[in-house]
Amino acid sequence: MLLVHQNLGPDMARRNKLYEGKTKVLYDGPEAGTFVQYFKDDTTAFNAEKQAVIDGKGVLNNRLSEYFMNGLTTIGVPNHFLKRLNMREQLIRSAEMIPLELIVRNVSAGSFSKRLGIEEGTPLPRPIVEFYYKDKKLGNPLVAEEHIVALGWASQQDLDDMVAIALRVNDFTSGILFGVGIKLIDFKLEIGRIWENEYQRLIVADEISPDTCRLWDMETGEKLDKDVFRHDIGNVADAYTEVARRLGVLQQNNQPVTKPTLIN
Ligand code: UDP
Repeated sequence: MLLVHQNLGPDMARRNKLYEGKTKVLYDGPEAGTFVQYFKDDTTAFNAEKQAVIDGKGVLNNRLSEYFMNGLTTIGVPNHFLKRLNMREQLIRSAEMIPLELIVRNVSAGSFSKRLGIEEGTPLPRPIVEFYYKDKKLGNPLVAEEHIVALGWASQQDLDDMVAIALRVNDFTSGILFGVGIKLIDFKLEIGRIWENEYQRLIVADEISPDTCRLWDMETGEKLDKDVFRHDIGNVADAYTEVARRLGVLQQNNQPVTKPTLIN
């Protein structure tokens, strides 16, 4: 298990904190158009009713999100990742966040299984993309495209682009994980806008990590994601470490990971 101190240190204290969420902190970046994203060890579930600190989780998620975002860059899916700064921090592009969480599902699980009465583990005939309105007070409700366009959270063109991005991320990430014996059951994606002169571009933002995905071992069905914490079914850090180990992320100890590498 990785044991890394979460002490922010003297430099961090001087930074301008923009936002602190349950699992990450956002600081002003060194240049205009950049933020520093800090990964905490804190974890929460069930609308923050359940909370814990998991030693080393932030370090693993920093690495894993870097790994997936770099992979997306290599296949031409624009995203916020610029560079890893240290064990817990990465430099990212600032984006104007669209107030939606996209969930892509390949296999029925979690809230989808509950809502529709479909047994957890049932493969879906094709990937399903859902939208949830990001509002903690409302409990992030599921919304239809109709709501999103009518209420002005995104245009119809944005929606079409977001679905296309989500499906590309799904194909890429599923493929990478398949190569190391892990099934991508579902995941959450957040998307932001950046402006290049008068043109808008959508980019993948936030994070891609075992905190935001469901990952099941293909042979045993063992859960290697946040469900381990949600349902107390093992050691969370060990599960996340296993994902990182299989992807070869932990082998390149202090070197920033630049390219996804598959190991047998
Ligand atoms: N998810 C997330 N953040 C959220 C809600 C969901 O990262 O606020 C992820 C979750 O880990 C899972 C997927 O999105 O991989 C689908 O979650 P679901 O809607 O089934 O909700 P849950 O059962 O996790 O409450």
